[in-house]
Amino acid sequence: MAAPRIVRYDTRLEVDVAARSIRGETAMRLAGAPAAGTELRFPRHDLVVDGVTVAGEPVTARMDGPALVIPLPAGSGPDARVVVAYHAAGAAGPRANGLVFGEGFVYSGFDTCRWMVCREGPGEKAAFGLTVTVPEGFGAVASGVPVGAEPAGPGRTRFRFEEERPYSPYLFGFAAGAFAEASLAEGETTLRFVGAGVTEAALLVRFGETGRMLRFLEEKAGVPLPQAVYTQVLVPGSEAQEKSTFSILGRDEVDPILTDPTEDWAIVHELAHQWWGNLVTRRTWSDFWLNEGVTSFLVAAWKEARWGRAAYERELDLFRKRRQRAVDAGFDVPLAYTGTYPSLGVRRAIQYAKGALFLDLLRRELGERAFWAGLKRFTRENAGGTVVSADLRVAFERESGRDLGPLFREWVGP
Ligand SMILES: [Zn+2]
Repeated sequence: MAAPRIVRYDTRLEVDVAARSIRGETAMRLAGAPAAGTELRFPRHDLVVDGVTVAGEPVTARMDGPALVIPLPAGSGPDARVVVAYHAAGAAGPRANGLVFGEGFVYSGFDTCRWMVCREGPGEKAAFGLTVTVPEGFGAVASGVPVGAEPAGPGRTRFRFEEERPYSPYLFGFAAGAFAEASLAEGETTLRFVGAGVTEAALLVRFGETGRMLRFLEEKAGVPLPQAVYTQVLVPGSEAQEKSTFSILGRDEVDPILTDPTEDWAIVHELAHQWWGNLVTRRTWSDFWLNEGVTSFLVAAWKEARWGRAAYERELDLFRKRRQRAVDAGFDVPLAYTGTYPSLGVRRAIQYAKGALFLDLLRRELGERAFWAGLKRFTRENAGGTVVSADLRVAFERESGRDLGPLFREWVGP
């Protein structure tokens, strides 16, 4: 029995920053009425379920190994709301329940379904509402737009956000902290920068080129940035994680820009995901190269436009060296490989580096006009939707008038 689609998640989350624990509730709205006997399955991770209701009536959920299984009673009408209350204990280290805790801040990492109830498949986009309660004095950034902030008992503040545009759940996220903040206007867009333990000037010196990158990427996409505000959150460490409407950037990745301005990859890579990955999203994880190969290639293209052809060639050399790791490991698989990778390094060598090299090859094969028109067509026609590798092939074929079947079979797979 096919599970009904989830069209909206609303999560209420209380974060105990000192204990690194969470308590929350996720309400999900389903598309249409479920058939009798239908179950919803979610990865449970470390969440402890405190209660489940469907259309207001308590139901008994069960655990099936790592999964939480919620039976949908027959006759739960269309738009039945499924509500799961949960909590999770903290951990000794800085990471607990998909969140990263530090001095005066907390943010969500890649795994959304560790701090709220959700399905992990990238192809199922949904709207998202978040109410998050954090220590008083913290500011907050999250997917979507802020719609309210209010005191929530002694020493606590509650922030509310709404993301009406459907995104994949892994892109839902938030960051909260005692943030310094700065912003710049770029055309119709507000570029906002926040960070804990840094000054406004420190944010501006790192992120001052974002407007130029935005103009470059909008031109390549043929689609404007889909939101009025884009926020970059500067954190310690090596983070580089795109979320819908914002990104989290670690100082290890960003700070090289202070001594060498051409070391700007992390900022442009995560910004590029607002189109490639977030707006145009691969339907399954096996087409992940469509996210990472395209954004890695666009980093090189940005460097070419901003810093000259030699900077593009340097970036491609880097991709060639990284891909070589997969070759050396005897694992130079096609880009849309559906099996298991032996290591994260090899997976990245394929999906990031080989993916970017394939785009460079297409650029040389098709020529400047057809290549960039193809990328634009792919982006425009699939904005807001989900894609497979064939969608990219078709876009390049339409613009070039060529049969790219053999080249895609060789590089991407059957
Ligand atoms: Zn990426």
